[in-house]
Order: sequence, then structure tokens, then C-alpha cells
Amino acid sequence: MIKIALYGKGGIGKSTTASNLSAAFAQKGCRVMQIGCDPKADSTQNVAGGEQPRTVLDALREKGGAVALDDIVKEGYGGILCVEAGGPTPGIGCAGRGIITAFEKLEELKAYETFKPDIVLYDVLGDVVCGGFAMPIRGGYADQVFVVTSGEKMALYAAANIALAIENFKNRGYASFGGVILNARNVERENELVEEFARDAGTQVVKVIPRSSFVQRAEEQKKTVVEAYPESDMAREYLDLADRVLGICTREEQKNA
Ligand code: ADP
Ligand code: SF4
Ligand code: MG
Repeated sequence: MIKIALYGKGGIGKSTTASNLSAAFAQKGCRVMQIGCDPKADSTQNVAGGEQPRTVLDALREKGGAVALDDIVKEGYGGILCVEAGGPTPGIGCAGRGIITAFEKLEELKAYETFKPDIVLYDVLGDVVCGGFAMPIRGGYADQVFVVTSGEKMALYAAANIALAIENFKNRGYASFGGVILNARNVERENELVEEFARDAGTQVVKVIPRSSFVQRAEEQKKTVVEAYPESDMAREYLDLADRVLGICTREEQKNA
């Protein structure tokens, strides 16, 4: 099982990238589980086929100990298993703690043994890399972390914090830095700035994803580009990203074996 986490600033395109990656993996015949770890709980909206799962935290609030896998896992496009951790009651509780509670529930319900996914993709908000939000990195949940960023200052600032969090935990055998995904915003010197960041963080730019109106057009249909416009250049970009990410994960897996 390959376990990948995508981190990045809010609004930078993590969920778009995660969903298109999931769809691309699914097209290649992989069984994918996508776990949204953003209190916004909209990670899987374009892969869930219009019907998103109830969030793990909501299900727990409603049903307590009686929560079953059926309540929190919904199968979407290409058999993608969609899960949303959800968020705390606004003003009360800790979003990071919520993610941990959701992960513990999935383990307790034997979600991984039951569905046997080949790939688990965590889609995590990276604006605050506190102990809670760093859980997918430090708890041994993700093996490889990919950071989604543009060349914008605030996106790179968040990316640098995530890089530090990975660095802080790397000696404990937790996640390693798989690389940077540049989701282009077409700002000045964008490629150069992001290349420079990746180099400083001791990693590489895995791929530059161009901006494309196909993303919005697919989104309007609650679909990924890979599903809605499979023949488009943009779908090919995501399929290529999937190949590159898989390549890095497999190489790392072999190195650690
Ligand atoms: P995040 O999950 O990081 O908060 P989203 O994936 O929800 O961000 O993306 C925010 C918005 O940016 C989306 O509504 C999507 O339409 C747009 N977007 C993301 N990536 C691209 C892209 N490569 N080209 C065009 N629009 C994009
Ligand atoms: Fe929880 Fe992190 Fe917020 Fe602290 S900063 S309350 S750990 S989510
Ligand atoms: Mg998101």
C-alpha cells in the first residue's frame, strides 16, 4: 500500500490535484482511497459522483460508537473510496485532533484491511502545520509527502513550513519529502522561484501543472478533468503526474525495503 499526503496552502489546488491524481490512478487500475483532511470537507466532491460521504467527525457526533464503514466511506468514480475527516464544531475543539480521531476511527473499523486500497491519498490543509495537522506526517500515516504550491509568496511560505515539519520528523522513519507539485498561477518568475524552494528543501519539482479552464468546466459537472475531458491535454498532464508520483513512491519503497 502506497501512502501519499498532499499538503499546501488553502485554495492552492490540493483537492483539485488530489482528485485528478486519484482519478488518474484509478484509470491505471489502482484501487484508491482519498481521505480529505481539511475541515472544509470538500476534498472528494469531484470524485464522489455528486454524493459526498458524511464526514467521520459528523458521523461520530451523530452515532457515537455505532458508526460503521458504510457511514463514512463512499465509492465514487473508478471505484475511488472517498472519506472526509471533517472538522470540529466551530469555535470548539481542535481541527488537528479531529483528523487524529478520524484516522483512529478508520483503523478501528479496519478500513484498510476491508477495502485493501493500493494507494491512500491524504489531502491535508497546510496553512497551520501544528501537531494536529502534521499528524499524517508524524504518525506514520503517509510515506511520501508532496507539497502543492504556486510561485506566490504565501503559498511558498506555507510550503516552507511543511518542509520544516517533514525535516523535523524524518529521522524517526516517518514520511519523506516526495517533491513539489507546482500548480501554476502564472506569477512572474514562477518556475524559478519554486525550483529554488525545492532545491533549498533538498527535493525536486515533480511537475508543473498548468492553469487550465478545463478544471472549472469539469468542476461545474462535479467531475475531475480526467473523468470529464479524458482526451484533453490537461487530463494528460494529470496522468503524467500520476506516473511521476508513482515512480517516486515505488523507488523510495524499494530503497527502504
Ligand atoms: P485547496 O484544496 O488547496 O483548498 P482547490 O483544489 O479547492 O484548493 O482549488 C481551489 C480552486 O482553484 C478550485 O476551485 C479550482 O477551480 C482552482 N484550480 C486549482 N487548480 C487549478 C488549475 N490547475 N487550473 C485552473 N484552476 C485551478
Ligand atoms: Fe489544534 Fe492545531 Fe488548532 Fe492547535 S493549532 S487547536 S493543534 S488544529
Ligand atoms: Mg481542498
